[in-house]
Amino acid sequence: MPGALSFLTDALSEIKAQGGYFRLRELESACEPVCRADGREVINLASNNYLGLANHPKLKEAAIDAVRRFGTGSGAVRTITGTMAMHMELERKIAAFKHTEACFVFQSGFTANAGTVSAILTPDDHIVSDELNHASIIDGCRLSRAKIHVFRHKDAAHAEEILAGLDSAPGRKLLITDGVFSMDGDIGPLPALVETAERHGAIMMVDDAHSSGVLGRNGRGSVDHFNLHGRVDIQVGTLSKAIGALGGYVCGARDFIEYLYHRARPFLFSTSHPPAVTAACLAAFDLLEQEPERIAQLWDNTRYYQNALRQQGFNTGVSETPITPIFVGEAKTAHEFSSALFEAGLWATGIGFPTVPRGKARIRTIVTATHTRAHLDRAVDTLSLIARKMNILRP
Ligand SMILES: *Cc1c(COP(=O)(O)O)cnc(C)c1O
Repeated sequence: MPGALSFLTDALSEIKAQGGYFRLRELESACEPVCRADGREVINLASNNYLGLANHPKLKEAAIDAVRRFGTGSGAVRTITGTMAMHMELERKIAAFKHTEACFVFQSGFTANAGTVSAILTPDDHIVSDELNHASIIDGCRLSRAKIHVFRHKDAAHAEEILAGLDSAPGRKLLITDGVFSMDGDIGPLPALVETAERHGAIMMVDDAHSSGVLGRNGRGSVDHFNLHGRVDIQVGTLSKAIGALGGYVCGARDFIEYLYHRARPFLFSTSHPPAVTAACLAAFDLLEQEPERIAQLWDNTRYYQNALRQQGFNTGVSETPITPIFVGEAKTAHEFSSALFEAGLWATGIGFPTVPRGKARIRTIVTATHTRAHLDRAVDTLSLIARKMNILRP
C-alpha cells in the first residue's frame, strides 16, 4: 500500500510473522448449535448465545412486530427524540429484574462500561481493577483519566492492600471486577471484594456481561448468585450475549442513573437502539422469567461437556462456567488447532497473545443450552481426534 498509511502494511506483516493474523469467518446461517460458515456445516462452540435466544421465535416475532409498528430506526439520540416508550419500558423491566432502583440501557456492553466509568470519575480519582478485566473497562478507566491501580487476578487481598494504601489519598475510589472472566470462565471473588470496598468506602462495580442470563436466579447475574443485593453500587450487563440481541445496561440507584442520563457520552452523542432490538430484549427478559429451565439446561450441558473433556485429558484451566478454554501453549498452535477443528466440523476460536498472556494460548469453547448431547459428544470426539493428531494430547 503506497502513501501515508504504508506503515500499516509493515505492522500487518509483523502481525503475520507473529502468527496473530486472522481472516474473518462468515456465518451463513442463523447463530445455532449447528450452523453454516465459510461453506461448511459446523458445530458452533464459539458463540455467546448461551440460551439460544439469538434465533428464538418469540424474540423474532417481537422484533418483526416492532418493525411493523415503529420502523427500523429511532431517529435520534435519547436526549433529542430518540427515547421511545419501549426504551423506558425495557429500563424499568431490567431494574425490576435486577432488584435495583433504576437501569440505563446503552447501545452495547462496551459503551456501558466505557461510558459509565468515564462519566463518574475524574483525574483526581482512583480505580482499582482486576488485571484480567475486559477491554471496555480498561478503556473507560483511561477515558476517565483517573489513576489506575491493577490488582492480581481475583486477588481480593491485593485489592485490599492497594485500597488501604489509598485511604489517606484524596479523590473517590472505584473497585471494579468482571463477574465472569471472558477468557478463562472463572468467577470473580465478589463477596471478598464487596467487603473490601465497604471497608474503604470505595464504589463497587461489577461487569456481568458473561453472567447475565447465566448466573443467579433466572440469570440475574453475579450479585444474585452471591446474594449481595444492595451491596454492589454499579452492575453492568450485556444484552448481546445470553439475551440474544444487542446492548448493555447499567443498574443502580436512581440518582446515579439520572446522572448518567446527563453525562454519559455514548448516551448523549450516539443514537438509541432501533425498535427491533429493544422489543427483542423485552421478549428475552420475559423468557428468562418464564423458562428458567433453559438456564438449568445450560449448566447441565456445561457439566457434561467439561467432564468429557477432562476424561480425554484436556486442560480446561479454572473454568467454573460455560466458558471452557482448552489450553494448548503457543498462539500458533491455538490458531492451527482452531483451523483443523473447523475443517473437521467444529467451530472454536483460537486465542493467543495479546488477548491472553504468552504461553497461555487456547481455543475457547462455549457451551449453550441448545446443544444436544449428540452435538457435545461429536464435539468432544472431534477435539480429541484432532488434538491427538497434532500432539496436543498424547496420541
Ligand atoms: C462482551 C463483553 C463486553 C461487551 O459487551 P457487548 O454488548 O458485546 O458490547 C463487556 N464486558 C465483558 C466482560 C464482555 O465479555
